Amino acid sequence: MAIDILNPYEMAVAQFDEAAERLGLSQAMRAILRKPKRELIVNFPVRMDNGDVEMFTGYRVQHNINRGPAKGGIRFSPEVSLDEVRALAMWMTWKCAVVGIPFGGAKGGVLCDPHTLSRAELERLSRRYATEISILIGPNSDIPAPDMNTNPQIMAWMMDTFSMHQGYSVPAVITGKPLAIGGSEGRLEATARGIQYVTREALHDHGMKPEDSTVVVQGFGNVGSISARLLHELGCTVIALSDISGGVYNPDGIDVHHALRYSKEHGSLKGLPNTEHVTNAELLTLPCDVLVPAALENQLTGRNATQVKARLIIEAANGPTTPEADRILNNRGIVVVPDILANAGGVTVSYFEWVQDLQRFFWAEHEINDRLETIMTRAYRSVREKALQQETNLRMGAYLLAVARVAEATEIRGVYP
Ligand code: NAD
Repeated sequence: MAIDILNPYEMAVAQFDEAAERLGLSQAMRAILRKPKRELIVNFPVRMDNGDVEMFTGYRVQHNINRGPAKGGIRFSPEVSLDEVRALAMWMTWKCAVVGIPFGGAKGGVLCDPHTLSRAELERLSRRYATEISILIGPNSDIPAPDMNTNPQIMAWMMDTFSMHQGYSVPAVITGKPLAIGGSEGRLEATARGIQYVTREALHDHGMKPEDSTVVVQGFGNVGSISARLLHELGCTVIALSDISGGVYNPDGIDVHHALRYSKEHGSLKGLPNTEHVTNAELLTLPCDVLVPAALENQLTGRNATQVKARLIIEAANGPTTPEADRILNNRGIVVVPDILANAGGVTVSYFEWVQDLQRFFWAEHEINDRLETIMTRAYRSVREKALQQETNLRMGAYLLAVARVAEATEIRGVYP
């Protein structure tokens, strides 16, 4: 068996290399696109509620900005590493190119466990991190957004911090903000809405009907919980859900609205009535039609891919499938809709939010969702067409489209000076 790659940056580079080889990119272009353009590491103090000062480490990485300003979320997690942020930044470059929005790729992260911080500590940490990375971010240069363990309130503190330094409000410096300060209608649900659109298309292409399809979702945060609700609204039967505490399973179907209320009240899905407990590992191999990993990287690996029973995998999380798992799933005829396509709804509505903030002109929710649907279905169709044409899978189809677009922009702009 080939060695599985678990380092996210090595995984991202391996995926890129395969596309670059197929596209016949020059060695110089490969060398440019393999490396992030800028990497900033910041170490900064935060005063804790008990008066002590603790040091935190954060990152902001820009991968490529030849198609437009850098764009990418900020993650707060004890697992954050420079390599993880590099990988996520590179995936953002490809994602923006797949859906054809004029951004390059970036990502940020702070090494911390936000669940152990008070609200006041979280605010001080967010504001200080925003200050530290303010040498890179700005409405024309690099526009962050939420990711794991960050939310609209944190985006509001960061936007306010940046604006305080400028002396006037700069809403377009960050997306995923609350509506009251220049956020966009539909942004909170955008990633999940994109998941709903691509799932609908993929089910159709494989002769499956939503009302006959069962769905398993891993992760019950912004993306996972809203995807579960929207897939239920599409007509699918959601049979298993999970969060960091483990999974809940009922082969006859789970009432997703009840699960949402229960998780809000109890802080997790643990003990959800009318379900049996499964581990997160068991959840991934449950019999189902559609599996939606919506938590974190490296969930489907060489070790469990042979046991996956889903027919379709819709990658809501970034990097949930290792290259080894990808090969196994591909050989087994399991269709994977890749992250850089499937979860691009979030960055697409972030783009709408940025445009609205720059123009000071806001759109109605139905306009947002209609435009999102057009972009997501068009991207899905072009990826599938490319994959069929090149006799490859959807991941490679998406990479071939995206990498060619970024390489073209990089080539046309030329090497400075
Ligand atoms: P979130 O913090 O809102 O939710 C994460 C969820 O995953 C939580 O329910 C948490 O309990 C669960 N989780 C954490 N560790 C787990 C584990 N070991 N096993 C199972 N579950 C675990 O984060 P989110 O914004 O929903 O992001 C989830 C994924 O989607 C990430 O990979 C992120 O990069 C990706 N993504 C998010 C967006 C967005 O707009 N928020 C856009 C594109 C992609």
